[in-house]
Amino acid sequence: MGRRIRNGMILVAAGLLGFGVACGGGGQDGGAPPALTQRSETAHLVYHAAPGDGVDEVWEESYIVWLQGALQVTPSGKLQYYKYRDRAHMVALTGKETNGWADTRGNLEFHTIWPKDNHESVHALVLNRLGFPAALFTEGMAVAHSVDLAQGWTSPRWNGEPVHSIAARVRRQGSLPSLDRMLESNGFRQYSDQFSYPLAGSFLRFLIDARGLDPLKSFFAASGYGDGSAAIRQAFQQAYGTSVDSAWADWLAFLDAQP
Ligand SMILES: [Zn+2]
Repeated sequence: MGRRIRNGMILVAAGLLGFGVACGGGGQDGGAPPALTQRSETAHLVYHAAPGDGVDEVWEESYIVWLQGALQVTPSGKLQYYKYRDRAHMVALTGKETNGWADTRGNLEFHTIWPKDNHESVHALVLNRLGFPAALFTEGMAVAHSVDLAQGWTSPRWNGEPVHSIAARVRRQGSLPSLDRMLESNGFRQYSDQFSYPLAGSFLRFLIDARGLDPLKSFFAASGYGDGSAAIRQAFQQAYGTSVDSAWADWLAFLDAQP
């Protein structure tokens, strides 16, 4: 369907929600931007949208059921899906100029302009139950679960292309950054989302497929978004019993073996 996967964004600073405060900004036609007054629910989600707008609730509900099974976690309540008509609507109501973001307080709230979400909702669930490690792992975790079962995509894709194919191509081109440049959040954020996110998604998908969920969960629980490389390396070593450098080397070898 050519739907672009959004530039998934996660706010670093907590407490910036400011939901519903439009700061005097007008809508496109000069009126006030419509509030998200339409509320509906499915078994695992509550949806908030403006009149005349909405979410593909059947798709989203089945995605969240799949996601909970894939991560073997149960959230503390229903996920809260805040749907905006477009970026102008998002910025008017939240002050965030982006396509989507998840609330880092772990309250299961996420905000997006898309009628189906397989990125911010992952952040929302992971923040609620598993933790908030450095960007390589936080964004990689979201992209590693960007499947679309309705389209038969059971492995993650970025803009419609399998993430392992993207990473293998970048590797062949010799432009894959070193782990040192990607490991800390500040380093990771030096790259555009369109470049770094599918690489992170491929690495996390490989890590989960090769080593399972238990060490991943231990690592997430012991980690913070602002951790320095020494702390990340130590937490990874403790969780996995091997270094992140050797896991990264294993991933590179996996990419080299891709057709
Ligand atoms: Zn994201």
